[in-house]
Amino acid sequence: MAGYAGSRASRPHRAAGANVEFVRHLARFALIAGGTPAIPDKKMILKIVQTGDPVLRRTGRQLTPQEIKSASIQQLIESMRDTMRDAPGVGLAAPQIGESIQLAVIEDRADYIKDVAADQLKARQRGAIDFHVIINPKLSFLDDSTAEFFEGCLSVEGFGAVVRRALNVRVDCLNERAEPITIDAHGWYARILQHEIDHLNGTLYIDRMNTRTFSTNENLLQHG
Ligand SMILES: [Zn+2]
Repeated sequence: MAGYAGSRASRPHRAAGANVEFVRHLARFALIAGGTPAIPDKKMILKIVQTGDPVLRRTGRQLTPQEIKSASIQQLIESMRDTMRDAPGVGLAAPQIGESIQLAVIEDRADYIKDVAADQLKARQRGAIDFHVIINPKLSFLDDSTAEFFEGCLSVEGFGAVVRRALNVRVDCLNERAEPITIDAHGWYARILQHEIDHLNGTLYIDRMNTRTFSTNENLLQHG
């Protein structure tokens, strides 16, 4: 795992054209989850704002423990969970549904990755992640190792690009009960956390991408 990461880390940026894997498994390893959207019922599906909306460029406000426990925030968490599953995506940050607060939901479901080839999962260090909530997160890097992979974003719909991200991170935050938690994350999970925490601070992956790899999903499928 570390050896693979090291060899990736030492490479220069890869052109989209070289990433044949991406062509075959576009949706499966973008941060857009791929798979079949959940069957809609009475769930509250929120509108996901797109790049250019100023809310995506603001730093979200921190929540107090009292606010976190409030009915409105608890309802928001449920709605964000339903919206993320409906999209489907593996993470959703509050600014993406127009709320400028430090809250994001994350979930990488087993059924999103069940059809992904074992070598793809291994390369990305990707495994199922249970649904959970991060609030007022503080990100730190556990070491200097990084990796480059394509990412997508529900707020930059229809596009993808290669982004270099840290492989090993720690997140200190509050959970949905306002309890302090520490998450040590590696590989794809670390990527998801960095992507979502960026959202809470007004940053999109397009600020960090290798710009020459930026492509429509359609072109990535055709020419990637
Ligand atoms: Zn995003």
